[in-house]
Amino acid sequence: MPVLDQLVSAIRSAAIEVIDLTAKLDATTPVIQLPPPFANTVPFSLHEVSRYDDRGPAWYWNDITTGEHTGTHFDAPVHWITGRDREDVSAIPVTSLIAPAVVLDFSAEAAANPDFLLEPAHIRQWEAEHGPLPDQGWLLYRTGWDARSGSQRDFLNANETGPHTPGVSVECARWLSAEAPVIGIGVETVGTDAGTAHSFDPPFPCHAAMLGAGKYGLTQLQNLAALPPTGAVVVAGPLPIAGGSGSPARVLALVERP
Ligand code: MN
Repeated sequence: MPVLDQLVSAIRSAAIEVIDLTAKLDATTPVIQLPPPFANTVPFSLHEVSRYDDRGPAWYWNDITTGEHTGTHFDAPVHWITGRDREDVSAIPVTSLIAPAVVLDFSAEAAANPDFLLEPAHIRQWEAEHGPLPDQGWLLYRTGWDARSGSQRDFLNANETGPHTPGVSVECARWLSAEAPVIGIGVETVGTDAGTAHSFDPPFPCHAAMLGAGKYGLTQLQNLAALPPTGAVVVAGPLPIAGGSGSPARVLALVERP
C-alpha cells in the first residue's frame, strides 16, 4: 500500500492517534504582560461581521483581532533581534512544519519550583535513558503549566518580583542553539524563556540563542502529557503572515499506538 494510504488508514483505525497540542483561542487566552515602558499585545477578540441577519442573511462570520504571539503559537527567527536578518514566519520551510518530537517531562520539578530551569545535565540524563534528541526535530519541554492556562493569573504566576514560570538556563539555551540537533523548543508556558529570564545575563537567553541560530519556538502547548517520550511527529501550522514574527498555530502530534 502506498505510504500515504497507510497513513490515512492508520489514522482512521486509530493505530496512529492525532493529539491536539493547541489551546482554544478566546478573549481569556493568556497573553504575556511586559512591564513599562514596553508595549504589550492585545487580547484575542472576535468582532461579528454578520450572523444570518441584515448584514448577511445566510452567513455567519467574524473578524478577529490577535497578536502574533497569542495562545499556542510559533516564534520565527526574526522575532528576536539576534535573528533580525533571518526568516519571517511566512518563510519557514514547510518541511520544518512536520518534524519528530521528544518530550522531556519536568512537571514534578516545576510543581516544586516554578522557577525551575532546564540544564544541559538534565538533557544528557534524559538522553542516557531515551537516546539522542531528534535530528531536525523538536524538544518539547513538559512542565505541567498547561493545567494553568484557563487563568491568566495562574498562567503568568506573577508577584511583586515579576512572573515565575519554568524555563531554560543560559547555558542550556546556548547548548540547544549551538550543539543540539533540534530545530526548536516547544513549551507549555507563555514564552520559551523562564518568567525570571528578564534578569538573566543575557536576558531572555532562549529567545536570543535559539532564534539567533535560526531555530524556532512553539509556546502554550497543551496535552504534552499524552505524548510518549520519543516517537511522536509534530505538525505545526502557523499562518504565513508576510513579514510576520510569529503566528498563532494549530499544532498536532501523531502518535503510533501499539
Ligand atoms: Mn512568542
